[in-house]
Amino acid sequence: MFTSKVYRLSPVFIQNVLLSSRAFIRKKLRENKECEQLTKELIAHDYDSEALKQYQSKTLKKVLTEAQRNIAFYQRFADDINTFPYIDKAEVNSNKDKFLSPNKSGVVIKGSTSGTTGAPLSIPQNMQSVITEQAFINRMMHWAGIEHNDKRAWLRGDMIVPQEQKKGPFWRYSYFENMILLSSFHLAQKNLDGYLNAMQNYGVQAIQAYPSSIVTLAKHLESNDTYYQGTLKSIITSSESLSKEDKALVERRFKCTVFDWYGLFERVAAIASCEHGRYHIMTDYSHVELTPAGKTENGRDRAEIVGTNFNNSLYPLIRYKTGDHVLLSDETSCPCGRVFPIIDSIEGRVGDYLVGEDGQNIHILNHIPKGVQGLLATQFVQKADFSIDILVVVDDGVFNIEQQNKLMLNTKEKLGHSIKVSVKKVDAIQRTKNGKIKQAIREF
Ligand SMILES: [Zn+2]
Repeated sequence: MFTSKVYRLSPVFIQNVLLSSRAFIRKKLRENKECEQLTKELIAHDYDSEALKQYQSKTLKKVLTEAQRNIAFYQRFADDINTFPYIDKAEVNSNKDKFLSPNKSGVVIKGSTSGTTGAPLSIPQNMQSVITEQAFINRMMHWAGIEHNDKRAWLRGDMIVPQEQKKGPFWRYSYFENMILLSSFHLAQKNLDGYLNAMQNYGVQAIQAYPSSIVTLAKHLESNDTYYQGTLKSIITSSESLSKEDKALVERRFKCTVFDWYGLFERVAAIASCEHGRYHIMTDYSHVELTPAGKTENGRDRAEIVGTNFNNSLYPLIRYKTGDHVLLSDETSCPCGRVFPIIDSIEGRVGDYLVGEDGQNIHILNHIPKGVQGLLATQFVQKADFSIDILVVVDDGVFNIEQQNKLMLNTKEKLGHSIKVSVKKVDAIQRTKNGKIKQAIREF
């Protein structure tokens, strides 16, 4: 809708009405009695390991049985999940129709993965899947202490303000949801105070944001040595990776807890952080296997997330390799008391890496900007000769030549001193069409 001509050419007031009506219809379709009931059932799993285990094994069994019965790709496999092969995006893409169930009743909703690695994958869902997904989102909101009518800010990838519009306001309102929606595409330094004021003036109680967007605002607050002026219950982040350092920064500057959610459109895994900062694997959302993927520089165990979705009978994916890595935790229980297994952190996309001077792949780029003052957003672009342009959005008052040298030195320390590094200031980092920021781009 946001890219339609009618929306783009309407005055702000009409855009608010259009956006609110769309939200109202979506809300009515998703948040029905069934969703409410399921949300309650899911919340009941939080502290009850027996109930969780039963739900888990019952659902997995059902998924495998139905897949064998209905899905061409899975007809030759037995009951035990270990007999099923690992699959990945490329495999699904080349066998698209073989994963589709013939039992198509009701509305079919198509969505697509963002395609940060490889070709995007188009996945159909039925209404049941959408409602179930909503129930899991509701539980996350419950964890974050957000209640039904709380005023929320939405700072994610929706193109609510056309890209070519250079003058504010860069936000719109959804009346029935008590929500202010802010554009992730206009976060230039000169606009940032306006964003903060808009949320404060609206009296926002919780924020749902892309990490790259909320981190930009937190860094702006930090470089001005100030804090968010409103009172927030919590912030929920999702859809991009969020480093521990950035999470702590947002919590400090916005004076509330960040609940970070990892999920993907394939719906094969969901991992959520709680109020104690531990990441819990939602074992009632999907069946997750963590397969060994080597060790970190510090000798910690790394694993790849491999998942089997529970909530898409129209397009079941079994033992799907996500290409996303986590670090394992030694902890077996969390002070929050919830019974879901714990991991230490999500390392994010394997695709987000640069190549060092010896040809080694450097995955963790979050540490490079550490300690550099005045940086609002960063992106690394590596050319065919391995040289690197660091695109930066900066606070001009703080980011001086000393900071620039520090950033270049940090980069060289990670990648090798023979690699040519330059820093280029930009107004905004280019976002993908979903509004996300890629941490690293390799032009080879
Ligand atoms: Zn916890």
